[in-house]
Amino acid sequence: MIRPVIAKRETTLHILKAFGIQMSKKLGQNFLIDEQVVADIVRAAGVKPGDAVLEIGPGIGTLTQGLAEAGAHVVAVELDRQLIGVLAKTLAGYENVRVIHGDILKVDISREIAAKSCKVVANLPYYITTPIIMKLLEDRLPIEVLVTMVQKEVAERMAAAPGGKEYGALSVAVQYYTEPQIVLNVPPAAFIPPPAVESAVIRCVVREKPPVAVNEKLFFRVVKAAFAQRRKTLNNALKGAGIPTDIVAAILNAAGIDGARRGETMTLDEFAAVANAWEKLKAN
Ligand code: SAM
Repeated sequence: MIRPVIAKRETTLHILKAFGIQMSKKLGQNFLIDEQVVADIVRAAGVKPGDAVLEIGPGIGTLTQGLAEAGAHVVAVELDRQLIGVLAKTLAGYENVRVIHGDILKVDISREIAAKSCKVVANLPYYITTPIIMKLLEDRLPIEVLVTMVQKEVAERMAAAPGGKEYGALSVAVQYYTEPQIVLNVPPAAFIPPPAVESAVIRCVVREKPPVAVNEKLFFRVVKAAFAQRRKTLNNALKGAGIPTDIVAAILNAAGIDGARRGETMTLDEFAAVANAWEKLKAN
């Protein structure tokens, strides 16, 4: 069957008009109209026939179509009820696509994806990018790679190295679970309507095991404290998180970290050293 490619301005405008779709800014609806970008995303995810793919926010089926054409078994979760009927039409005939009406933050993903391993491929709604990515990673779902379109500034924060202003708690968390790499910058003109910000596609390959061995709860408490107020020294940040002054000094001393440093200069190894020193002190 020959189907019109959805990722084109004229096809998208036609679908929006034919179905009388009211696009919602609140739901982060900016639909892709660039065929090349869809192809690049599918390639960045290395989608092969038979791959299980979770797509978040299929919209009118633009990226879903690219994934389905590549032979993936797609489960696509869309929150906007008006689009569910539209997707049934725009993706009619693709036996390898299943659309679920729901909120990705509430759907039980492990129940919906039966495969041992899956890929997440999505043009994310920007208003909830971080909660979605953190949920997917923290839930330890059997995901091998996430290829997502996000706001460019967020992609830069996810992939940032220590030392710059982009580096923060999101960078540490994403790099703890994955190896991120920005693969493509995408201009506003690639969407209808064009978003107010630049976008980027980022590929995050999920690590088999984290790069540091830590008590995760303590590790992320330290990271959160260190970035809660970026201008604070580590010394003050840890005290601010409720750790008594003498314990803070003992932790930093044992970890071999200068308390005058700021969180934004700390590597994952150094955060791990602090968390591990804290755990050891707690045990004694
Ligand atoms: N995939 C389409 C594309 O590339 O053109 C649409 C992407 S658009 C940026 C984001 C989509 O996510 C919209 O269709 C929106 O309705 C949907 N969405 C927003 N919040 C959601 C949520 N919590 N769960 C699932 N889908 C959501």
